[in-house]
Amino acid sequence: MKHYETEILTSPFAKPDAYGALTMPIYHTAAFEFPTAKAMSDAFCGRSPEHSYSRISNPTVQNYEWRVRRYTSAMSVTAFNTGMAAIANTLLAICQQGTNIVSSSHLFGNTFSFMKLTLAQFGVEMRTANLIHPEEVERMIDDNTVAIFFETITNPQQEVADIAALSAVAHRHGVPVIADTTMIPFTAFHAKDFGVDIEVISSTKYISGGATGLGGLVLDYGTFDWRQSPNQVLKSRTKQVGKRMAFTARLKTEILTNFGALMTPHEAYMQCLGLETLQLRFQQQASSALWIAQQLKSEPRIQQVSYTGLDDHPFHAISVRQFGQLHAAMFTIDLADKQQCYRFIDALQLIHRATNLFDHRSLAIHPASTIFGLFTPEQRNDMDVKDTTIRLSIGLEAKEDILADILQALDKMQE
Ligand SMILES: *Cc1c(COP(=O)(O)O)cnc(C)c1O
Repeated sequence: MKHYETEILTSPFAKPDAYGALTMPIYHTAAFEFPTAKAMSDAFCGRSPEHSYSRISNPTVQNYEWRVRRYTSAMSVTAFNTGMAAIANTLLAICQQGTNIVSSSHLFGNTFSFMKLTLAQFGVEMRTANLIHPEEVERMIDDNTVAIFFETITNPQQEVADIAALSAVAHRHGVPVIADTTMIPFTAFHAKDFGVDIEVISSTKYISGGATGLGGLVLDYGTFDWRQSPNQVLKSRTKQVGKRMAFTARLKTEILTNFGALMTPHEAYMQCLGLETLQLRFQQQASSALWIAQQLKSEPRIQQVSYTGLDDHPFHAISVRQFGQLHAAMFTIDLADKQQCYRFIDALQLIHRATNLFDHRSLAIHPASTIFGLFTPEQRNDMDVKDTTIRLSIGLEAKEDILADILQALDKMQE
């Protein structure tokens, strides 16, 4: 078992730094110089590992990717400038006109919109199943299915699928498994052990910490044999790079460079700082979230507290089995109606009215009228996003102070 902080803090640089820097410097440069024409050609044609241009690769970004790879043992890690870029580029590398993705309607809003609207324009079909029932997923898979895609904990519904069971179904049909694991960090969930082939993460959330900036990660565990893919480009790539490398090879040398969404060096530096304290912060925030949720459970002015960390939550047992004793530092509360939700949110004094998750600061949002505000009431109904729900992301402030703010806002709500 690797120890997270030790792995992250002892991760070596690819080359010794010229000045002996202890922290990886920010290589804020667009291009890199070569001693000879031959060296330049070798770098451009992938015959040497040197950096040539920062849209393709950069030492600071690579350091971030390698630190994540060192802990997770992923075969390859690619850093994007947002979580959405990580998701979009992954799907663009896998889809082709006439193919389909099997997923759920309980998805992060932009991921849903990317599949349902954007990819549909290019002849890629999104199929939605109830992921709690792997047999439903199985019925939707056909010869043109390029991937199954799901989130480890859906937000705000907090639904948790049996990931090993989903992977077994997908692999039985020769389909790769892509998981958006943003809600539960890789320190707590070892995706590869549950059959996940590709992990996508919005590192804007837990990893960045403090909402300093945006980032996304794609981890390829090298576990899928791409000769099985209905995507012709990936299938034929296996002949040049091997059956396990086709996705990463296409992602890094075609999709990433053509869409131009590699993380910037400055952001990679910030995300590395976040990586170093990730586990400390996660433990603190997740423990506070559980304590606060427990205190609120018997609060008569709250209709329902929904949190996978509470032992009466329908997905508590499976969460513990897959993610361990710490749960996401986020839960939802339901109030009587939308008006009460607004009055409550307006009365908060310490908790910030903002989107984002796992910031150092505690945050509150009314998902139905914000993140999901542009969907129709019917779509929101399908997604199980209710008008009565408030999402709370628990930060690093003292848990007693966060609770006190919630209680005073409940008082004001009723005035
Ligand atoms: C925030 C989020 C994303 C998108 O990430 P950005 O960094 O905002 O682009 C994707 N999936 C989940 C589950 C998220 O919470």
